[in-house]
Amino acid sequence: MKIRALTLFPRMFDCLNESIVGRAVKNGIVDIRAVDIREYSKDKHFKCDDTPYGGGAGMVMTAQPIYDCINAIDPEHEYLRIYMSPKGERLTDGVCRELAARDKLLLLCGHYEGVDQRVLDLCIDREISVGDYVLSGGELAAMCVIDGTVRFVDGVLGSSLSHEDESFSDGMLEYPQYTRPPIFMGLEVPEVLLNGNHKEIARFRREQSEKITQSRRPDLLSTVDGES
Ligand code: SAH
Repeated sequence: MKIRALTLFPRMFDCLNESIVGRAVKNGIVDIRAVDIREYSKDKHFKCDDTPYGGGAGMVMTAQPIYDCINAIDPEHEYLRIYMSPKGERLTDGVCRELAARDKLLLLCGHYEGVDQRVLDLCIDREISVGDYVLSGGELAAMCVIDGTVRFVDGVLGSSLSHEDESFSDGMLEYPQYTRPPIFMGLEVPEVLLNGNHKEIARFRREQSEKITQSRRPDLLSTVDGES
């Protein structure tokens, strides 16, 4: 899978060299690159922003460097071109699974007050938001998309089963997890997890999942019911 993040701050993506995503890159399962939009600016000072028409605070990213950058990276429009935006559809487990099935993703990261609408109209297929709050740039949002998506690419997680247990995979939040030691600061691991009875363990975990989903995210349970 190829992922290209278009940004004015490419070094922010260096942290993807760590952990699970970093290992997937090293193993050649995903090829992730941050592309510096500034290198495509035709302005003699490589300027990439300007004041908004109609007035208002802040700066807007200009269309030309982004347009040329996208067309240099993806001349045949083979990539799914995504703009990270608080106005986009919400990033979910389902969206991550869907994106993981694509070969090529292009993630455009805005900054300042955003991006000239015309380049979005001309080039972008889809807008994705990481939640109802405003970040100063799309980079962290793009990294959420990358991390959440790469986990679903075959061969990335050690066992293909490991994401099937996790929160949201069956429309519920995950049960609580415990590891050694059996007693910590006087708190014991639930007895059922120590007895090796897999049926009982599965039942206990299912009950815990339902309980925590009911108390924290009842909206998820209504979706599960609605589908069955
Ligand atoms: N003025 C815009 C916000 C600009 S924030 C507005 O009010 O809608 C600057 C950039 O950060 C955006 O261009 C976008 O790429 C990114 N960004 C901010 N919040 C985001 C969110 N919740 N999800 C995804 N990207 C976001």
